This record gives sequence, structure tokens and C-alpha cells, in this order.
Amino acid sequence: MSDIKLAEAPAGIEGSGFFATSLEKVIGLARANSLWPLPFATSCCGIEFMATMGAHYDLARFGSERPSFSPRQADMLLVMGTIAKKMAPVLRQVYIQMAEPRWVIAVGACATSGGIFDTYSVLQGIDEVIPVDVYVPGCPPRPEAILSGVLRLQELVKTEPLRRRNQPEYKELLNKYGIQ
Ligand code: SF4
Repeated sequence: MSDIKLAEAPAGIEGSGFFATSLEKVIGLARANSLWPLPFATSCCGIEFMATMGAHYDLARFGSERPSFSPRQADMLLVMGTIAKKMAPVLRQVYIQMAEPRWVIAVGACATSGGIFDTYSVLQGIDEVIPVDVYVPGCPPRPEAILSGVLRLQELVKTEPLRRRNQPEYKELLNKYGIQ
């Protein structure tokens, strides 16, 4: 048991029979390992997410076995697929409905940059309408790449301040997107 604790525990002070760290780090660790995904899948990349959730790749290993289809019960938005400009306000609304803290992964070339659909009707990257924390490349990205994106997000969640929304930089970012 102590081996598991040392491998997973955030940096702190160790001693005989005790381990001290900050509450912020413990909560960060808990949050990172219990992210609830909200899949916003509009096309092919969504199929790769299904494989990622399946028994072989098993996203549940990382604490994300509970997909939510209500924005109010999710904290990790995974956007997968081509986002038409008509769909952009819906995506934005879904993001706004998520409670803080919330994180976003753009999965695949379309969500990241419009991909092969360099045309008037397609959003050239979801970061035109919502902030993105992690970008996963590929057309489509394999399940390993999606898992890698989730692990990168976990690193971010572990280390960011508890009250991220109160940080001036974050408020500034949301203001940029016109989100309160
Ligand atoms: Fe489909 Fe490729 Fe776009 Fe993914 S990135 S939705 S695989 S066209």
C-alpha cells in the first residue's frame, strides 16, 4: 500500500508514519483521477472515442468510466468531429452549462483546426468559440492518442490552482470568448 501511495502522492514531506502535503495537491490528484467526460461527437472521430471507452483501451482505468450526456454533470468536454458553424453556438452553450472547474480536449484535426474541411461552413478549430486545454492530433486520432490527451489533461488538472476561475488570467481568457 505504501508503494502505491508514494507513486501517486503529490510532492510533500515524508517521515516515519506520516506524509504531509497541501490540501490543494490532494484535491488536484482526486480531480485528475475522477474526470467525467462529456463526448460531443459529430462525426468519425467519435467512433475512435467509442473504442477508447471499450474494454481493450479502457478509459475507465484513468477514472473516467462515467460518460455524462448532461453538461451539468461533466467536467471534461471532448469535442470530436467536424463542427459546422451552425453547430458552434450549441457547442458554446454546452460549455457554458458545465460547472467550474471544466476542461476541454479538442480531439482530431477537425476539432483542432477544421481538418480537411477548409470551407466557409466549417469552424476552423473549436478554439474560435471556446477555450481549449489539450489538442489531440490525427485524422482520426487512434485511441492511444486520445488516452494520451486525457493523461496530459490530468497533469494540468493536478497542478492548476484550486480556484482556477478566480485567477485573473482565466477571467481574462473567458472574457476574450465573451463568457462570464
Ligand atoms: Fe473525421 Fe478526420 Fe475530422 Fe476526425 S479529423 S472527424 S476522422 S475527418
